[in-house]
This record gives sequence, structure tokens and C-alpha cells, in this order.
Amino acid sequence: VPVLVLFRNDLRLEDNQALLAAQRTGAPILCVYVHETEGGSAFRPLGGASRWWLHHSLAALSAAIANKGGALVLRSGRLVSAIEALIAETGARHVHATRRFDPAGRQADEELADALAASDIAFERHDGFLLHDPSSIRTSSDRHYSVFSPFARKLIPVIQDAQPEANDGPFHFFDPPQSDDLSTYGFLPTSPNWAAGFAPHWQPGEVGAQKSLERFLTDALDDYATGRDRPAVQGTSRLSPHLAFGEIGPRQVWRAIETVGPQKTGRDVTTFQREIVFREFAWQLLANRPEMTWDNIDGRFDRFPWDEDPNGAPLRAWRKGRTGYPIVDAGMRQLWQTGWMHNRVRMIVASFLTKHLMVHWKRGEEWFHDTLIDFDPANNAFNWQWTAGSGADAAPFFRIFAPVTQGRKFDSEGNYVRAFVPELAALPAKFIHAPWEAPDDVLSEAGVKLGSDYPRPMVDHSVARERALDAFKAMKGD
Ligand code: FAD
Repeated sequence: VPVLVLFRNDLRLEDNQALLAAQRTGAPILCVYVHETEGGSAFRPLGGASRWWLHHSLAALSAAIANKGGALVLRSGRLVSAIEALIAETGARHVHATRRFDPAGRQADEELADALAASDIAFERHDGFLLHDPSSIRTSSDRHYSVFSPFARKLIPVIQDAQPEANDGPFHFFDPPQSDDLSTYGFLPTSPNWAAGFAPHWQPGEVGAQKSLERFLTDALDDYATGRDRPAVQGTSRLSPHLAFGEIGPRQVWRAIETVGPQKTGRDVTTFQREIVFREFAWQLLANRPEMTWDNIDGRFDRFPWDEDPNGAPLRAWRKGRTGYPIVDAGMRQLWQTGWMHNRVRMIVASFLTKHLMVHWKRGEEWFHDTLIDFDPANNAFNWQWTAGSGADAAPFFRIFAPVTQGRKFDSEGNYVRAFVPELAALPAKFIHAPWEAPDDVLSEAGVKLGSDYPRPMVDHSVARERALDAFKAMKGD
């Protein structure tokens, strides 16, 4: 009789506590992944870019399991139905899985837990996606945290000694029942193949995750505190899709940083660790406030006059990277072409959408859900609400990123814009973030036809800023 290991956003063999627990039983293991196509009220289908990543990640995991002599069984449908079918086919009495904290995952897992309990089958859930249990870190008044700094102060001593567990086997596999063919899930786009630009940038899977970590430790950690704000260079770890799909566990990342930390400058290490703690904070919030993906955390923003049109002209221009602000457009095109966007630019484009265009943050959240390879329900909703001002411990509303100033400061040579907005590539750095300020002869020498090849700014920065601030004052009742 097999022990079932139910893979989900923990697509790795190393430091996978659910897998290790199953191996320790000594019984033959059956590795399963269920592509959930339906679920409870919070169910949300996978976004397009996530589907691309998942396809390659499952292929990598299948190969890694095959390399150990086993097979990954793929099934699809409602989680509970898929697992009940497998139990009927194999006689399994034990299911191990990594605990989930997103609303949809929790609903599906509760439904499964109830069904398995009714048949007296054990369903053991293990840690592994986070460094902490979001129900255990509480304020002195026994509430969850809404402010980052005290949360971080409480969390860091708890996670300081996090130790990943290597998986040296043995792997003893159960003869696998029939598996779906991954290609039948249709995760890869066909025509048009909008993901053609992803592959050169990414290697989904556990091996790719380790390579990203190694590259970061060798090439970027030393200058992370400043390098992380320069979108034209690879100054960050690019671990986000690997963490989102669990191809690397946060304990592995934390330990690697702690191990090299003493040889590095303190500021680079602590700044990076702070980002990892931000991920924990976002998940702690989502676990305690599942509605934060669809509701303003600060309820006053329910009265803000958002443009909610899911297909309005401002939203469409933003999505396409045709706002007329080069740093915004470069970010939106980086996202479309590579499935990822630099964090500094994510903040600029999110501020632009919610404040300059006053489009609801939910519309931006949805676009990122569909187009990011690192889509993560907690990080995405948390950061959208943070930027829009409606979130927990959010940026104050009056902090409206000025796209030209941001561009000049963080992409001073204009190389990020040149990489993603080829229409402007020949402009000198002085004008690349504000092409409308360039004299006619400079524009014509650079081959830029403003208003036809590249748009003029769709809104005037100062006018849009005032409009947003007025709406905010009215919302507050000032
Ligand atoms: P690094 O700088 O190397 O950071 C390491 C890790 O720390 C990241 O992989 C991530 O897991 C975590 N981290 C870093 N910044 C943040 C942050 N601000 N909040 C929470 N965790 C963080 N991140 C996602 O993983 N998925 C999302 O869907 C997502 N949506 C975002 C939406 C908006 C509007 C904004 C402003 C940010 C969003 N982020 C999201 C956070 C951040 O932009 C990415 O985590 C980061 O750019 C990933 O690149 P990296 O792995 O090289 O980051």
C-alpha cells in the first residue's frame, strides 16, 4: 500500500518536509500532482504565465523523480475527487502534503481533509512554504500583525536557525497508476506564442532555482542594497518564480544567506533578508485576512472614485506599455516579454495605474496575475494594496511616484528603457525619460516620431497628481 505525496507549490525534492515524512514511513511512495480545475468560492484559474512556468516545472520534477527510479502521476479536476480516485485505485491510507495558506488552497484542502477523515484516511500537512506558521506569530494583544517592523522584530529570532533538510533518500516508489500526459493540459500557448521571450531568461525547476541562488550569491549579493534598485542590471536574486512554485524553500534561501553573510557587508545581507521577511509578512496577512485579494484592507478606499472598467482605454494603454512615460512602458513591456518585472518598476507602474490613471488596483492585480511568472496571491495583493495606499502598513497615498524623476534616478543611463522600448533606443540619456522635452532635431536624429511611433504622455504628471490628491481628500471627507 503506498503513501501518497501530494505535490503543490513545493515542486522540489530537497528540503521538502512532506516528501521526507512520507519517505520516513518506509512504505512505497506515490508522487502525485493534481491540476486543480475547479474548487470552492475562492477558486481562481491559473494565469497564463503561471501555466507556462508550471508546465516546465512539472516536466523538471517528473524528470527528477524518474532519475530516482519513480514517476510523477498527474491528475486533474477537483482536488478531492482526484485524490479519492487515486485512493480507490491504490488502497493508500496516508496522504502527505505541504500546508497551503491561500484562500483557494485552504478551501480545497479542508474539503479533502473532511472527505479523508470520513474514510479514516490520514491527511498530514507539513510546513515548508513559509519560514513561520502565520497563526503562531501574534501581537501582545493576540492579533495578527498589520505593521511590518514589529512583525519583523518578532519573526527574525524565530527563523534565525532555520535549517533545510537534505534529501539523501532512500526513494522507494510504488508502481504508479495511469497518469495524464502533461501536454494535454494545454499549459503552453500556441498561436500566438506570447511566451517565446520567456525561455531565454528562465530555467523552471529545482536545478534552475539553485543556479539562480548561486548566481545571486556570487554576482549580486555584494551590492544588493543599491543594485536592487537599478532595473538595467541583474541586481536581485530572480528567485521569485522559484519561491512561488516552491522549487526552492525559504529555509534553503535563508540558510544560504546566513552562511555567506559573515563574509559580506551587513547592509546587503540584512536588506535581502528583509525582502524574504516581507514575503512572510504578506503571507501572514493573507492567511489572516483572506479577503485582501479582492477587498481594500483600509475600508475608506471603498469610497475612492476608482475607474473599475476592465477594458477601459487607460487600462489598455497601460497594459500595452503605451502610456507615453518611458519607464512605465519599459516595465509593462518587460513583463509581457519576459514574464517578470523589476521590483522598483513594479512600484512605478502600480503607482501610475492607481494614482495617475485612478484605475482600481484590482485591475492591475488581475493583469499581474495573468502575466507574471512569479504570481503569488499574497505578494501580489499585498504590494498592489501597499502601492495604492489601501493596504496594511501601506505607502501614504500622497506618495505618488513621479515617473520621469524615478526613471532619471534609477535608470540614469536609460539602458533599461532602451532594452524594452526600442523606438526610443537612439535618444540620449538626457531625454530618454521625457522624450517630449527633446528638441525637434534631437528627436529626428534619433528617428523618434512622437505621437506616431511612440505616444505622447497620456496624462500630464502634475494634473494627474492633483486630481488623485483631490479625490483622496474628498474620500477622507477633508
Ligand atoms: P529579490 O529582491 O531578490 O528578493 C528576494 C525575494 O524576496 C523575492 O523573490 C520575493 O520572494 C521576496 N520579496 C522581494 N520583494 C518583496 C516584496 N515587496 N513583497 C513581498 N516579497 C518580496 N512578488 C512576487 O513574488 N509575486 C507577485 O505576484 C508580486 N507582485 C507584486 C506586485 C507589485 C505591484 C509590486 C510592487 C511588487 C510585487 N512583488 C511580487 C514583489 C517584488 O516585486 C518581487 O518579489 C521581486 O521583484 C522579485 O524579484 P527577485 O526575486 O529578484 O527579488
